[in-house]
Amino acid sequence: MSDELTVIAIDGPAGSGKSTVARRLAERLGIEYLDTGAMYRSVTFAVLANGVDPEDEEKVAAVARRVRIDLDDGGLVIVDGVDATTQIRGPEVSRSVSVVAANQEVRSELVSRQREWTRRRGGGVLEGRDIGTVVFPDADLKVYLTADPQVRAARRAREVTDLDYDVVAADLARRDSYDSERKHDPLRQAGDALILDTTGLTIDEVVDDLAKRLVDG
Ligand code: C5P
Repeated sequence: MSDELTVIAIDGPAGSGKSTVARRLAERLGIEYLDTGAMYRSVTFAVLANGVDPEDEEKVAAVARRVRIDLDDGGLVIVDGVDATTQIRGPEVSRSVSVVAANQEVRSELVSRQREWTRRRGGGVLEGRDIGTVVFPDADLKVYLTADPQVRAARRAREVTDLDYDVVAADLARRDSYDSERKHDPLRQAGDALILDTTGLTIDEVVDDLAKRLVDG
């Protein structure tokens, strides 16, 4: 990585443990954390709030360019001045987010905002699908987290308390295949990423492992 920036890239599918691991690792290192999935979800929220069809590439790109997204440290997500923290995780946004995220103009707008966010802070822990492959291919540490699909769905179902396991499992399977097969910046492992299967691991074990690797270089 460049001299001034310390960047840790954590990628992987939904329910792999990325968000919790990234947040805890950032706390441990005393640097900031960026949930890039929340950014794609925020654009999707604005698209739906404005009555735009998620498949309408031009209109969706226009929303992405002008939307204001504020992610605060406490986990609040404010989209164009409206608190969208709960709705961005809800079923409507989850259903459409992968289509919005496949839009190349949405991606280039959000990637440039993510790079700017990182430059302003001198680095950070970023989690998403394309951090180590596209946003920061020179990150100091690149991690790809995976876990068995059933374990991932069970974790997500616990997070979103009003949805049952089968609904969550179907949504994850659909997003996994859409995110992996899309044309622009699909979800894939960077060749030089550390691959960790979190199926049988606790969050603390994963965070300890990553923190140790950073210290040991
Ligand atoms: O991480 P989360 O499950 O909240 O991400 C929601 C969606 O946003 C993913 O299914 C994917 O379509 C998209 N995404 C992406 N690139 C990222 C982060 C998320 O395409 N860096």
